[in-house]
Amino acid sequence: MIEIRVEVPGRGYPVFVGRGAASSLPTLVPRLSGRRVVVVASRRVFELHRRRLAPLLREVGAGAPILVPDGERSKTRRLVEGMHDAFLERRLARDGVVVAVGGGVVGDAAGFAAATYMRGVPWVVVPTTLLAMVDSSIGGKVGINHPQAKNLIGAFHQPEAVVSDPAFLDTLPARELRSGAYEVVKCGILGDEPLFRALEGAPAGFVGWDAGEMEKAIAAASRLKADVVSKDEREGGLRRVLNLGHTLGHALESVTSYRRFTHGEAVGWGLIAAARIAARRGLLAEFDEVVAAVDRIGPRPRLFDLSAPAILGAIGKDKKAKAGKVPFILPTGIGRVVIKDDVTPDEVKDALSYLRSGR
Ligand code: NAD
Ligand code: MG
Repeated sequence: MIEIRVEVPGRGYPVFVGRGAASSLPTLVPRLSGRRVVVVASRRVFELHRRRLAPLLREVGAGAPILVPDGERSKTRRLVEGMHDAFLERRLARDGVVVAVGGGVVGDAAGFAAATYMRGVPWVVVPTTLLAMVDSSIGGKVGINHPQAKNLIGAFHQPEAVVSDPAFLDTLPARELRSGAYEVVKCGILGDEPLFRALEGAPAGFVGWDAGEMEKAIAAASRLKADVVSKDEREGGLRRVLNLGHTLGHALESVTSYRRFTHGEAVGWGLIAAARIAARRGLLAEFDEVVAAVDRIGPRPRLFDLSAPAILGAIGKDKKAKAGKVPFILPTGIGRVVIKDDVTPDEVKDALSYLRSGR
């Protein structure tokens, strides 16, 4: 079992990574004992992993889990309303604890429900997708979508612990595994050269990767996020580096109404675009290595039919835009990045033509 600490002002919390970690939940999180535990779980995950989860729920003294739908379209105010109703029914109070079991959607929504119920009850997260393990479960950002914008309604509410059990990934569809894999590659490029090198030995899309290697990669990516969050909980500056590949990635998701790309696939395209912009500025000698690392993950839906003006328009509307300038994170080597807010529309257009050419 690998343990990583997230150090946020006032208190820190552990992130456990290891096969079988979920079954050790009561030992790993001793503060669950003697408290009312309410479990919110993805219905799909609960059905797929009932044999692992049901005894565990008994052990922590939780009643029947609150089973919820997942997938991006479920991440609504209604989902959180249902959770609040179920918390009340189960007489959850401030001395209780919410345990969220699922991907990023269930984690974000249950974390937000916990943050807002009685002005905040503690919560523990058991992420079950690769993306949720290395990204959404760490850092305390919780929330839901508004019909007009993603993640518009939210809060910061750090969990008491994150328990990442790669055994859940055995049932994760290959495309969802790839979606998380792009974020792992992102972590290697932006701050962890040994991780980047380890990924060179991974099979396409991480499918069938050696369990020990996979565990180490999940831990490395989680550690990178944990370190960044520890230094910058509220996204004052440093936390922005995690957005490598996301400036274009978010725009691609938005112009396709979140239907064509998984988040990771859009980030995959964005990573190559950022590398291209950096290379043209003479900042990145390892351009080919970055492209190869991204392409090794696997196929991504096409983008040649998307219009450059529409994409530039979407970039301009980015949440992270300030005074008309959108910051771009540019790689300057394997494991190094800089933040630039002077990237021009022409540079973005050039990167888009590069992505379109023969891909
Ligand atoms: P998700 O929760 O919708 O899960 C993706 C799919 O995988 C769903 O269909 C789900 O049913 C299925 N699934 C989950 N675990 C499974 C398993 N073990 N076996 C089989 N199927 C399984 O999406 P996600 O990709 O995990 O997370 C995306 C969400 O995370 C987005 O809403 C995004 O905004 C959010 N996010 C949040 C942060 C943050 O800092 N809070 C960071 C990154 C992403
Ligand atoms: Mg992301």
